[in-house]
Amino acid sequence: MSKSRGTGKKGAIHSLEVDASKGIITSFGQRFLFIPVELIHSIEDRLADMVGPMTATSFQYEIGKRGGSHYIRMAQKAGYDIKSSKDVGMIAANLGTLGGWGKLTVQEIDFKKKLIRLRWTNGVSVRPNKKSKTPVCHFGRGVLTGASEAMFGRKLESIELTCQGKGDAYCEALIGPPESVARYAETAEKQ
Ligand SMILES: [Zn+2]
Repeated sequence: MSKSRGTGKKGAIHSLEVDASKGIITSFGQRFLFIPVELIHSIEDRLADMVGPMTATSFQYEIGKRGGSHYIRMAQKAGYDIKSSKDVGMIAANLGTLGGWGKLTVQEIDFKKKLIRLRWTNGVSVRPNKKSKTPVCHFGRGVLTGASEAMFGRKLESIELTCQGKGDAYCEALIGPPESVARYAETAEKQ
């Protein structure tokens, strides 16, 4: 059995409180909901059916962004001081990985350029029996972008460079100022 490291006693699992009498689950002073991932897939599919895949993608991304900024406020309230890449790694491990979003790691972070590259496996939008031609983690990328915006205090863009949903070994996103992300995407396309 592998032991999880670096998550400390503050891990989401440790602070998860189930109040059976009220039917409420709380963590980090916030109410959480325990739902099957299939429900997320149903929402994705219904959205795509109703408004088309392009608009559905942008919906998921924008909704994710709202949620992501909330995660950072929650982390700050819980006493996380976000000053170094180690702090960000801890938040990713405690709120991301232990929250069930997939195994999330920080690959690169530049506080000056406000740029971050994150890698994850087992994202919630990746489905075992369905392979896509394009990246699928719009909701997750939104969450990470919203969290990065709240962390860096400015508007950011993002691109999912590789995605397990299209057969890559892992998902990886670059999040940063629009001009940096556009430049990166351009260079990647030329290679
Ligand atoms: Zn992905």
